[in-house]
Amino acid sequence: LYTAFLRPESQKKRSKSNKNTPSQPIVDPPKARIGLQGLIGNTPMVLVPSLSHATGCKIYAKVEACNPGGSAKDRVALGIIQAAEKSGAIAPHEGHVIYEGTSGSTGISLAMLSKAMGYNSHICLPDDTSSEKVDLLTNLGAVVDKVRPAGIVDKNHYVNSARDKAVECETGAVFSDQFENDANWRIHYNTTGPEIFIQTDGEVDLFVTGSGTGGTISGVAKYLKEKLDDVRVVLADCQGSGLYRKIKYGVMYDSVEKEGTRRRHQVDTLVEGIGINRITHNLSQGLEFIDDAIRVTDEEAVKMAKYLVDNDGMFVGSSTAVNMVAAYKCAKSLGPNHTIVTLWCDGGHRHLSKFWKQARELGEIKLEDF
Ligand code: PMP
Repeated sequence: LYTAFLRPESQKKRSKSNKNTPSQPIVDPPKARIGLQGLIGNTPMVLVPSLSHATGCKIYAKVEACNPGGSAKDRVALGIIQAAEKSGAIAPHEGHVIYEGTSGSTGISLAMLSKAMGYNSHICLPDDTSSEKVDLLTNLGAVVDKVRPAGIVDKNHYVNSARDKAVECETGAVFSDQFENDANWRIHYNTTGPEIFIQTDGEVDLFVTGSGTGGTISGVAKYLKEKLDDVRVVLADCQGSGLYRKIKYGVMYDSVEKEGTRRRHQVDTLVEGIGINRITHNLSQGLEFIDDAIRVTDEEAVKMAKYLVDNDGMFVGSSTAVNMVAAYKCAKSLGPNHTIVTLWCDGGHRHLSKFWKQARELGEIKLEDF
């Protein structure tokens, strides 16, 4: 593969001092970026060889794990801070604080970018969050508040706690509110969507990804549907999440899953970052552009993660494994010669103790298993 990047013999420039200097690979490194913000977005896209070969399709993963904070949430954190600055709610180096209630990647991105952009960050988490995550946030300079786990309707839920603390903060603050904040889907509409369009030369037959806040699928779906007449958008839903049923049948609960019950808000899955039992504001912005949904079990996700590391050396996180199962199934149902795009949301490193603990135990996985 590497020889494909070597210049043909006729074009080689010979070194004057030493005619035997070996030819150098042509490299095209990006220009230096300015500051941490400059490293966000413009992520690479990679063809997944094993799945593409098996289906006769081009299955591409856009590698959001290459953002400096390790996930697409860097884009969202940047979008949210910039929108808050534009509205006049916060200004750099004034001691203003950015609050969020999250145990996921958004906290890491917000903590990191707050430092880069002249803010303080304050992250509220359930007190059973893993110590690695708490340590990471603290090392990034965030104030971390551990609160007792509670239902989303409870005032002590970590999201509600972050919102309340932002209101009470006397030095000036903003509640980032990733689930409801329009800056979330907009940054994907303005950056992730156009990047996918350019990287595929506008040839995307199908885009498939999971939904947590819904910002990614809404922003990308809206952009691609505006640019392409025939593109299909499919939501990949993990087990325990209500979105599959909502997209397929228009309802989220059956008669035994009454609103207000514990079941309503819990998503019982090993997968982190996606799966939800309500339509967030961000998801509502793209719902009309989602054509179909596909359900992926934890068992399938764990097997796919193992399959990808064994066959392609790709070490993915749990939501990416869900995306890859869904992309593979979509490719099989479309048939050969189609282009499918999904997202490599984050790497396996953040999932070692839970998801990968199961994946690493598995033996050889075959594609017939899906
Ligand atoms: N994967 C991971 C690892 C995530 O952290 C998230 C965000 N919660 C998603 C996927 C889903 O993205 P979105 O919130 O835009 O739906």
